[in-house]
Amino acid sequence: MSWIDPEFPTTATVSELVGRVLGLNPGMMTGPGTNTYLVGRRDPILIDTGAGVTDYLPLLERYLAERGFTQPSRVILTHRHRDHMGGVAQLRARFRGLSVAKMIHKDRWLPEPIEDLREGERIAGAGAALIPVYTPGHASDHLSYYLVEEKALFTGDVILGGSTTVIPSDDGDLLEYLDSLRRLQQLEVRRIYPAHGPVIENAPAKIQEYIDHRMMRERQILEALGEGLATTAGSWSSASKGASPAPSEPPPGRVARAKPALEPRRVLRAPRASPACERRRPAPRRGCTRRDRARRALRDATARRRRSGCRPPARRPR
Ligand SMILES: [Zn+2]
Repeated sequence: MSWIDPEFPTTATVSELVGRVLGLNPGMMTGPGTNTYLVGRRDPILIDTGAGVTDYLPLLERYLAERGFTQPSRVILTHRHRDHMGGVAQLRARFRGLSVAKMIHKDRWLPEPIEDLREGERIAGAGAALIPVYTPGHASDHLSYYLVEEKALFTGDVILGGSTTVIPSDDGDLLEYLDSLRRLQQLEVRRIYPAHGPVIENAPAKIQEYIDHRMMRERQILEALGEGLATTAGSWSSASKGASPAPSEPPPGRVARAKPALEPRRVLRAPRASPACERRRPAPRRGCTRRDRARRALRDATARRRRSGCRPPARRPR
């Protein structure tokens, strides 16, 4: 099955408590499109709004009617990317007074009014309770939602069905992303409802797979450096071999690209000055091979990054 699956159902009742309506925005970044979820037994909570595609609203209304629902009780967003909150204005025009909430973090501009939502603030629906879990890395404002009754997790773009996620260069952070995955690993999660692609049944295995995938990419960088590859382009394209397409759109006007925990250029530049063995002795000694220096450089750069709290520059108002 391809990432952009034309057969992906536009609506589905995926459990007693959860309905899914597709955002109708297929593409390389979004796969079959953004999943929006309706949670609860009546007037459900809507998680995410799609990109604002015209045909989404009639599709949502048809699905609500099929289920005997009148309208969403409220909207909660996983994060600010356009394919998740692009439908807010459209929904507000149709359902007057609809409340919309997200974690407000580094947001200079949002369609007004949006309420602030924080980790742990329990959201009560009809026969369902959702608990926001802060999961930055793909986006600095990213919340996942834990559905208590099902021990299920709405992962937004942190974990996807059928692809790995992208860490955008402006607002993403691979170390935070790995931390987020490890936090999710601590929860008792059985099932994952991703923002793109089908339901994931074996949640613990999928979370572990995502962690392993990222660790493998780091190892590939180290190995490429240890082998002494001279060009950054060559080493990175070889380390990136097998990378999946990059799902989920970043904000408009920004380019998404995969970013490793340490950019290869930085890793390649850093070792010249830092290893103590080079400073002390002109000739290499035991334990001071090129591979050792690369490992040390990676460790030092990671520590520096942690100490400095290095973050991408603040977003400018658009
Ligand atoms: Zn996203």
